[in-house]
Amino acid sequence: MSDRKLVLEELRIDLAERLKRFQAHQHREDGALDPDFSEQAVERQNDEVVDGLENEVRAELIKVNRALERIEEGIGDECEKCGAAINPERLKVLPYATFCVACAGATAAPGQGG
Ligand SMILES: [Zn+2]
Repeated sequence: MSDRKLVLEELRIDLAERLKRFQAHQHREDGALDPDFSEQAVERQNDEVVDGLENEVRAELIKVNRALERIEEGIGDECEKCGAAINPERLKVLPYATFCVACAGATAAPGQGG
């Protein structure tokens, strides 16, 4: 088993744990908002922060799963878009990367692509 796969599997467990905690926060049994208005605002704000974090963790988990699938298929170090080899240095920094630097840069630009 490659180091990268080990790193990704640990990351996946870690992310799944974090998701579980966010979900526990949002499905708390004491769901009623505090009757005091300022307290309500704080609670809502917290919920929004948690929502944002949850979405980030979920997105990262999807990337990790995808990278693991590609490793299983033996193409874990190939760019998903252009098929070029992904720089090993990049994979050390971003073990869940499935795009080469050029394609990742291209997809990160908003409103472009196709
Ligand atoms: Zn590429």
